[in-house]
Amino acid sequence: MQRTFSIIKPDAVKRNLIGKIVQRFEDNDLRVIAAKMVRLSTEQAEAFYAEHKGRDFYEPLIAYMVSAPIVVQVLEGEDAIAKNRQIIGVTDPAKAEPNTIRADYALSVRENSVHGSDSEESAAREIAFFFADDEIC
Ligand code: ATP
Repeated sequence: MQRTFSIIKPDAVKRNLIGKIVQRFEDNDLRVIAAKMVRLSTEQAEAFYAEHKGRDFYEPLIAYMVSAPIVVQVLEGEDAIAKNRQIIGVTDPAKAEPNTIRADYALSVRENSVHGSDSEESAAREIAFFFADDEIC
């Protein structure tokens, strides 16, 4: 079993897509073992996306991530990191595979509805960023 970290981003929360997105995870044998809704501060968003600091999309990305609440989750399952990335689709919804979350719901490269960890290291860092051990069931 492996754990990964997921965010349902502001554009999806604002459009009442939380249930539809969680359904995709559950239909693909990813179990939600921790979840909460949070409103990121600018400082938190900057820290979470620190690796992108300096890129031209960084400032608008931060503004977008603090624009509405998000839902952060820990997902568990076989090969959860790769499986979640597959369910999500690539960053740009125009290039995402059919039937992926981003192909079906994302609005743009920035407002792309979900985040999923891309490696074991990022999953561990991102889970610890939002959850204490006793919040994960
Ligand atoms: P995530 O890490 O959120 O799952 P990702 O790995 O597909 O997405 P990254 O390259 O890590 O994408 O970028 C993080 C986020 O920054 C993207 O999900 C998107 O919201 C935004 N982003 C990335 N590239 C661009 C771009 N060229 N223009 C606008 N926004 C972008």
